[in-house]
Amino acid sequence: MRRLSEALIGDVIPPERECSDEKCPWHGSISIRGKTLVGRVISTKMTGTVTVLVEYLHYRPKYKRYERRRSKIHAHLPPCLDIKEGDVVKIAETRRLAKTVSHVVLGKVR
Ligand SMILES: [Zn+2]
Repeated sequence: MRRLSEALIGDVIPPERECSDEKCPWHGSISIRGKTLVGRVISTKMTGTVTVLVEYLHYRPKYKRYERRRSKIHAHLPPCLDIKEGDVVKIAETRRLAKTVSHVVLGKVR
């Protein structure tokens, strides 16, 4: 298994089996750079890709308050991970893997 940095792994549960997916962050050769995000899986209907809903707070200076924002992110799902809808996962930014995919799922968060 490839060595991912502690900062990247955090409280992510590592996969229990190997896979031969080049785009797997654990067993492939994909380079991870940029942001990591935590979100909830809301769709697993695509093959090899999941939709992750990420919620965050955005500051509005005029009202001195935060507003809630959300965005749906498509992330590549390597075959060594068992992810269901509703799971909270950590995703990391990587190069563009498909037209709408530039993130990869690292795994479920404890
Ligand atoms: Zn893998």
